[in-house]
Amino acid sequence: MESIQLQGKIFLTGNIKVVTGLHVGGDSDNLDIGGVDNPVIRDLLTKEPYIPGSSFRGKMRGLLDRHFDRPINKGRDVKIHECQDPAAYNQCSVCQVFGVAPSARNLRGETMPTRLIVRDTFLTDHSRKELEEAETDSLFTEVKWEVTIDRITSAANPRPIERVPAGTTFGPFQLIYGIYTRNTVSSSQVKEELDLFDIVFTGMALLEDDYLGGSGSRGSGRITFQKLGMTFKPRTHYEKKGTQSVPIALNTDIETLRNIGYKQKILDALGLQ
Ligand SMILES: [Zn+2]
Repeated sequence: MESIQLQGKIFLTGNIKVVTGLHVGGDSDNLDIGGVDNPVIRDLLTKEPYIPGSSFRGKMRGLLDRHFDRPINKGRDVKIHECQDPAAYNQCSVCQVFGVAPSARNLRGETMPTRLIVRDTFLTDHSRKELEEAETDSLFTEVKWEVTIDRITSAANPRPIERVPAGTTFGPFQLIYGIYTRNTVSSSQVKEELDLFDIVFTGMALLEDDYLGGSGSRGSGRITFQKLGMTFKPRTHYEKKGTQSVPIALNTDIETLRNIGYKQKILDALGLQ
């Protein structure tokens, strides 16, 4: 019988700096009276805007789908790419890293667990304090009026968009990547898992030159990643007290991380060549 074993997890952390106002949309139905039409998503308890892991992850995946020319083959309202059979899946780094829905029947029992988890990201303490002190239009946000011009009558049709102001920082974000092996533990399998991880860096680099949230083509949602760090927790970390996680890098950027030799450090931590 086949078995799949977790060998460890990579933790990629850092801050997300908002360079141009960020609009990650919330739910207009739950608006307070007097709220704007296009609100940002907020934490239910603290009322602070945050970046849902699903938005961050979904945007990276979409950009990678296009970057690697993956066929858009699924979904009715929102069209997405998801490999539908094992041969395609095994050739597709996007699906192997981001996962496929369990409804893909041909793939049942053929796939590895979804490797990448993306946590929600909240305001840094510094930005929370700054926004509290700033005189913003509404709690932690600004309201930007966007004007659409009627192409026939030239009538202006302004509408408000709520945004997290430029300069705000969210963090730390946390991307968690599981490294799995099938049946036996070998360095070649772990190397393949680590090679798949490369597309996470590609996705982040693509995202910096694209946008997060809505209204991107009208200027919103430019972000940069800052103070990136990487840690590895081998499987033994979860079993024994005192088995430390392995620090790999601190306070750095995407390019440095790519070239820091993290794959060898992880292989060493697992006692593999
Ligand atoms: Zn795929």
